Amino acid sequence: MIKHIKSNEWNIIEEGFNPDYQEISESVFSLGNGRMGQRANFEESYSGKSLQGSYIAGIFYPDKTKVGWWKNGYPEYFAKVLNSPNWIGIDIKVEGLTLDLFKCKIENFRRILDMKQGILSRSFIATLENDKKIKVDAIRFLSMENPDCGIIRYSITPVNFSGKVTFIPYIDGDIKNRDANWDEKFWEISEIGSNKNEAWLLSKTKKPDFRVAFAMCWNINVSEYSINSSHNASRCENRIEIDCKKDETITLDKFVTVCSSLYYEHKKILEIARLKAEKSKQTGFEKMFGAHAARWDAIWRQSDIKIKGDISAQQAIRFNIFQLNQTYRGDDERLNIGPKGFTGEKYGGSTYWDTEAYCIPFFISTAPQQVTRNLLIYRYKHLQKAIENAKKLGFSNGAALYPMVTMTGEECHNEWEITFEEIHRNGAIAFAIYNYIRNTNDLKYLGEYGVEVLIAIARFWAQRTTFSNEKQKFVILGVTGPNEYENNVNNNWYTNKIAVWCLKYAMEALEKVKVSSLKMYHKIIEKTNFDIEKESAEWNKIIEYMYFPYNADLDLFLQQEGYLDKEQILVSDIPVNQRPINQNWSWDRILRSCFIKQADVLQGIYLFEDEFDTDTIRRHFDFYESRTVHESSLSPCVHAIIAARIGNINKAYELYLRTARLDLDDYNNEVHEGLHVTSMAGTWMAIVEGFGGKRIINNMLHFNPSIPANWEEYSFMINFNDNILEIRVSQSQVEIITHTGREVVLFVYDNLVTVNSLHNVVLPLQSGFY
Ligand code: BGC
Repeated sequence: MIKHIKSNEWNIIEEGFNPDYQEISESVFSLGNGRMGQRANFEESYSGKSLQGSYIAGIFYPDKTKVGWWKNGYPEYFAKVLNSPNWIGIDIKVEGLTLDLFKCKIENFRRILDMKQGILSRSFIATLENDKKIKVDAIRFLSMENPDCGIIRYSITPVNFSGKVTFIPYIDGDIKNRDANWDEKFWEISEIGSNKNEAWLLSKTKKPDFRVAFAMCWNINVSEYSINSSHNASRCENRIEIDCKKDETITLDKFVTVCSSLYYEHKKILEIARLKAEKSKQTGFEKMFGAHAARWDAIWRQSDIKIKGDISAQQAIRFNIFQLNQTYRGDDERLNIGPKGFTGEKYGGSTYWDTEAYCIPFFISTAPQQVTRNLLIYRYKHLQKAIENAKKLGFSNGAALYPMVTMTGEECHNEWEITFEEIHRNGAIAFAIYNYIRNTNDLKYLGEYGVEVLIAIARFWAQRTTFSNEKQKFVILGVTGPNEYENNVNNNWYTNKIAVWCLKYAMEALEKVKVSSLKMYHKIIEKTNFDIEKESAEWNKIIEYMYFPYNADLDLFLQQEGYLDKEQILVSDIPVNQRPINQNWSWDRILRSCFIKQADVLQGIYLFEDEFDTDTIRRHFDFYESRTVHESSLSPCVHAIIAARIGNINKAYELYLRTARLDLDDYNNEVHEGLHVTSMAGTWMAIVEGFGGKRIINNMLHFNPSIPANWEEYSFMINFNDNILEIRVSQSQVEIITHTGREVVLFVYDNLVTVNSLHNVVLPLQSGFY
């Protein structure tokens, strides 16, 4: 755990430069606009340890699979988001010597991520090896308004001399992924050029045929300078040399466009990028920035969470909301949300169950409906591939197994115990459809897309179960639950639970469509070739006779069969210097231990909470929390929600801070690899569903708020059925306000209340409601 970030409500602040933290800060201070992302690498040269990282949405490389022992069914490739040409580069020379913070004496270093306006700034005074001292101020943003544009303002003031300073803005296409399987380069440069005050580069992926055009131009605030432009096979630059005077600030504005073939025609893409760069230069820094900041303002108006009395918690929740919005803008159904967003290469920038289980609850409530719809359509478009994937594994009749990891719908993951066995992911995709429908009532989506997906998923579960003669029950054998610290288990309680739920919901959703449109219903039956009598009967039998591992003495659902055979020790028994266990123990020791990586039984209790009374939830929380090491970022948020649900607000707060500040404080020593973007949605859930107690029961909104002891007040916004509600919770009362004016009937602590434009709901806070 490293605490090098200063607390502040709207800003992430680093003061003083420590090269040991550089890769961590590169992740933490990342910028993105949903179309592209950029780690907080320096513009100027840096010879210290650094992960130069620039990523473009939807542009990937199918990297040939590398495994020890090949297993039939493994995918041929792992799709990796490409580390792309470096467009931020501005080399600086001072009297011929290159500015490099690894080699200079540095004073007053300050790096700030202003989350309110989506801008990264950096300032410092550097003394170079030739004793020349300069002050540097750099600002950067990736435009939310014009998502192809990145803009940098870079200023230098000579502090102790007058002399030659050279600015060299450039684009460099000689970039490699750190995680390349075969140490191969993924890009080729097909065109490159430069002229007096412009430079450009057209890059092409070796496969598939993606093109990305980069173009830059610039403005400088002096009239006297000399220019030298050049390019070689992979780098293009403009070299601007200026005779600077002591204390006079020279400012270069660099305007870059990054246009990908996902949005522009191959043949015209370079021309478009160059025109757009020129246009952004004409518009100028201030105007471009104004439009960008206005976009952020609109995002914050709908999604901000305000916490009074706890700056550290306030900073953390904004950081999480900020990063999620930097990663996904919701306007393109071909895109999704990688676990690291655009902040690193781990997980290949591909799609995991994280999107459905975590990000969808966030976007459903904080963004227009279309944003979530697009995430669901993404999976609909992959349905045929999911059916093929299941077929490859031996399933039939239109059964679908969605991939564990994917870019295009094809499975990319290649560890058998996860690829073939972590099948609970299929359930998360079905649950997300249910979640969307209960928040929006978008029956058109359900009829046109959702039910088809649900039927295919249900067919998979029906075929994946086995009838055990010994137990006279259906069982699901050889699976990995959400807890990846145990593989190839039988009857993982969570997997069995979600399988049964999927079967039930597929039939319920089909019925819903039948009621709303008979025409649509018949279309689905025909398209899926659904044998209502036979298949429903089979599904109902599985629902009735599914086996769930349970221990009567402890009155406890077991994570899987045999879980209690393990030595039952607690997380509190693990010496601190052996944590995290995945960095200190052998894999074999982890597998045999009772320690749980992430919410598993509790993930099920979270999803199906209505089925359990408070005592049952408390019993399971106490048992499993004490055995969970939370070594997946997806874990503490779910436990935080359950802790709040059972009234253990102190524990909920402890878990909230862990999820919220996971990256800011580098809890698991891995932030240098990138941020945990998908779990950031879990942080939001920890406040809204945890402390706020938001639930939807029978299509009605419920809130059962509580508040941590050290918070004066907190408030959040919810989009429910296109109504925007604000919920404010203080130590004494709960207030609900509508921002759309329409009347909403809802429950607060089981009281049926009505909120409309004339009437806010105000009720006293009920501390021990549960
Ligand atoms: C977790 C998975 C998750 C993946 C990506 C793993 O460590 O165990 O549940 O999908 O990370 O976030």
